[in-house]
Formats: sequence, structure tokens, C-alpha cells
Amino acid sequence: MRHNFGAGPCILPQEVFKQASQAVLDFKDGLSILEISHRTPEFEAVVDETVKLVKELMNVPSGYSVVLLQGGASLQFAMVPMNLLPQGGTAAYLETGVWANKAIKEVKTFGTANIVASSKADNFTFVPKDYTIPEDSAYFHCTSNNTIYGTELFSFPETSVPLVCDMSSDIMSRVIDVSKFDLIYAGAQKNIGPAGLTIAIVKDEILGKSGRSIPSMLDYKVHIDGGSMYNTPPVFSIYVAMLNLRWLKSKGGVAEIEKENIAKAKALYAEIDRNPLFKGTCAVEDRSRMNICFVMENPELEKPFLKFAEENGVEGIKGHRSVGGFRASMYNALPITSVHALIELMQIFAEKHQ
Ligand code: PMP
Repeated sequence: MRHNFGAGPCILPQEVFKQASQAVLDFKDGLSILEISHRTPEFEAVVDETVKLVKELMNVPSGYSVVLLQGGASLQFAMVPMNLLPQGGTAAYLETGVWANKAIKEVKTFGTANIVASSKADNFTFVPKDYTIPEDSAYFHCTSNNTIYGTELFSFPETSVPLVCDMSSDIMSRVIDVSKFDLIYAGAQKNIGPAGLTIAIVKDEILGKSGRSIPSMLDYKVHIDGGSMYNTPPVFSIYVAMLNLRWLKSKGGVAEIEKENIAKAKALYAEIDRNPLFKGTCAVEDRSRMNICFVMENPELEKPFLKFAEENGVEGIKGHRSVGGFRASMYNALPITSVHALIELMQIFAEKHQ
């Protein structure tokens, strides 16, 4: 039995893999999902159901469009200012990690990124909380979960400026009030489905105000008007995402999975805090439920622990190079039994090395 704690692309439910492989062989009348036209009514139904499931699972209010895109969250870093920032304007950014930083970098072609707060000097081990967002900002951008550093935003600022959020690594892991946001985007390859698909949830009224002419493929409005079919969409990624969202719905939706995610995170953080060999790397109040970062009191034991974990079926816990140590990513599809397996290995290792 392997336990996949990889940061992304990451674990998806086994039943989704089975259904997806079946569709590769026979989606419709012996034809593979990989060979049918995206313009067939059968595939149009897949797009419609995927969009409907996103709306339903996230309780998206009217006045918002859900659009299926490509280019990853990284393309959103540029599409956001391109679509929302008037030339030479200023947008406010919260700098909470490498991904926020990459988003900030993309603004300069269009205007200025005003970094209202940053935890960079502390290697992004906490989420800054005391800051003001200037009222004349075109929008405020934040990252709800910092995949590399293991911090998560558990509250979002009340602000009169449009709120934009990169939710790539915690979307649909917890209940979010979409009505508070003007634009949410996420690369699919954590809780939504396989890589290749990006989802944006856009409040319709914020578009068309940049005063700029936008290339069609980079224009949210073009994709919305085209029903996410302006060009050939990532057919297989969308299909697998639909299967995964069906699975999430069958589990009771986001509110139910959130309870499981809280239980999983609580169990592992409790062991990190209890076990004398290990320690967490982030401010306790900002600890992510999705990416749990920890190191060892004695760094010389890190390699042996990693080897021990891998030999015993635990995959993907090596920390990102900018943090070191370990990162256990615990997305929706990771069962709590995998978390218990990791905890048990930490305990056995501690007994041997105390
Ligand atoms: N934002 C966050 C929070 C991420 O975790 C990632 C990828 N891990 C990205 C953006 C970049 O996403 P992509 O690779 O889809 O461009």
C-alpha cells in the first residue's frame, strides 16, 4: 500500500482513476474520450456538468461565471492584471510565498504591484495580518494557501476593492463564501483533477474595465462567451475533473470534506508537536491543512527518516528545497488512514532514535 503525500499533481480517488481509464477505452459507442470531438453533445454535456458541479459545490452566486481555461495558475498571474488593471494603474498584493511573488512579477507589464504586506523576511512562515489596502487599488490579490511554506489564510480582508484570490492548493477543501471574492482561480491539479485545466470563477461586472485590448485567448470574456469552448479545451483533464467533482459531491460536498481535512491536519500536527524528534515550521495560527511542513530537531536524521518513510510506503514527503525537511500534502483524496500510517512511522522512528 502506497500513501501519496505529493504536493501536486497529487492523489485523486482510486475510483476516479478507474472510471477515467474506462473512458480512455470506451467513452461512447467504443470511441475513446481521447478521440471524440469536443463539439459532440456528449462532451458538451461533460463541460456543462463540470461547470454545474463547481457552482454547486462552491455555492457560486448568480452574477458569476465559471470558466475552464488552460495555462495553469501561472498564466492567471498575468491574465489577472491584463484583464483588471488599467494601464499604469496600481493593484495591491499580499506577499506570502513564491507563488504570490510570481503573481507580483507579472504585474509590471501593465502597471504597479503595491506589496501591502510581506512575510518574506521570515521565509514566509506566517501570514501578515495588519495591513491596509489603499482604496484606489484596482484590486487586491492574495494566495489562500501557500503550498510551499505550509501557511493558509483563515480570514480574508474586508475591503471595498475587488478581491482576487489564487486558490490553487486549497480550493474545495473548505467552505468559502464566494460572494466575498471578485475573481478566484486555481490550477486543477490538487483538489479538482489532473493538470492541464485551470478554473476561474469571475464576477461578471468586474470585466471590461481595463481599457485595454486583450488578445482573445487571454480575455476572460471571450472564454465565458464561448462557454469554455473558444478553442479546443483540455478534454481529458475536464473529464477527469468532472469525475472527481462527482466523487466530492457523493462524499457530501465541501463542508463534509472540510471536516475530514480538519481531522487529518489535527492528527498530524498533534504528532509533530508531541514527538520530540520533529517540529513545525510555521506560526501555529496560520498552519495549513493542505500542506504540512515540518523539520527534525536534528537535521542529520532527516535523510534516514525520509528513507524509512519511503521504504514503508510513504511517498512525496520531501520538503520543498526552500524550506527543507518535510512537507506532507493532504489534499481531499488522501484518506485519514494514510495520515495514521505516517504518524505511526514517526513514532516508530522516534523510538529507535531517542
Ligand atoms: N499557485 C499556487 C498556490 C500553487 O500551489 C501553484 C502550483 N503548485 C501555482 C500557483 C502554479 O500553478 P501552475 O503550475 O498550475 O501554473
